[in-house]
Amino acid sequence: SLSIGIVGLPNVGKSTLFTALTRKGGLAANYPFATIDPNVGVVDVPDERLNKLAEMVHPAKIVPATVEFVDIAGLVKGANEGEGLGNQFLANIRNCDAICEVVRYFKDPNVMRETGRTGAFVDPAADVDTIQTELVLADLGSLERSIPKLEKEAKRDKEMAPRLEVAKRLQAWLNEGHRAAEMDMTDDERAAAHDLFLLTMKPILYVANCDEDQLGEKPQINGQDAIPICAEVEAELADLDPDEAAEYLASMGLERSGLETLARAAYHLLGLQSFFTAGPKEVRAWTVRIGAKAPEAAGVIHSDFEKGFIKAETISYEDYVKLGGEAGARDAGRLRMEGKDYVVQDGDVMVFRFNV
Ligand code: GDP
Repeated sequence: SLSIGIVGLPNVGKSTLFTALTRKGGLAANYPFATIDPNVGVVDVPDERLNKLAEMVHPAKIVPATVEFVDIAGLVKGANEGEGLGNQFLANIRNCDAICEVVRYFKDPNVMRETGRTGAFVDPAADVDTIQTELVLADLGSLERSIPKLEKEAKRDKEMAPRLEVAKRLQAWLNEGHRAAEMDMTDDERAAAHDLFLLTMKPILYVANCDEDQLGEKPQINGQDAIPICAEVEAELADLDPDEAAEYLASMGLERSGLETLARAAYHLLGLQSFFTAGPKEVRAWTVRIGAKAPEAAGVIHSDFEKGFIKAETISYEDYVKLGGEAGARDAGRLRMEGKDYVVQDGDVMVFRFNV
């Protein structure tokens, strides 16, 4: 499943947020990691459409898409040189699909800000900079190791030349303190860059850990919209039953918890979408890349579905709802037989036909 590493300086509220994540009532209970690994929390991606489909199909259960959050403790200044949890920490980030950086926005002077600076309790730009520097230095370290190898390979094999080229350009770019992902690259260069496994190639999402009264603000961090969350409120929400939680949210003028907002934002950041399966056993959302073709979507459910793919009976979500479900859509001629080149659309309700 999709995994997001939570990073941030000490004392910004990572543990508070993560505890809320892992205690959350809405946790995917059928998800094995949720109970096994204390550093992994799984959050449902909220989707109104699932409820709508369920009203029509009356399934035994509803299964939403999930996002997995991984608590990556130990990023401190000097991590790239092995300070704190150092290399271990960097390896953990390398295994995630994206990074979620928690940044201190709350003012509470009783909570130390551990950056060695006195005075300002809130300095998001400086905090982001500290972490970015560590990640950039770690990437420069890996390039220093991979470039000599690439040079050798490029001598033997001309096809490797573009990869060497992009590695060198990235080295210069990172040396100026930028993230790799922000360098201008052609699609081919980007693909080559991905094979370098750089931390700063990963998409990043900023969470502003706010005081309760800042939750209505639209914080910007590093020129990017940050998601305002109050970790302490999330921790309180996690202890409430769903009705109480909804009431508490409403009392603050909020529609959904910060954790749900976070899961949803992560999903979009990564260019992912949902398609649905809807039957009496379950109504379920599945995660697939935007741009994926039907066999790839089938493969998300089971690799056999992809291998033996024949066709996908497809109804758009809108048609499905408007025409009263599968039978209605079929009668109206809105159930399409799609082949292997069909590009899956967000919300498609699908049934796969395959050879075994
Ligand atoms: P971590 O080191 O990043 O994991 O930070 P913690 O989650 O342990 O939080 C550090 C301190 O900040 C704790 O004393 C928390 O109670 C406090 N804290 C966390 N979130 C908030 C918040 O939203 N508002 C306030 N005022 N304090 C917070």
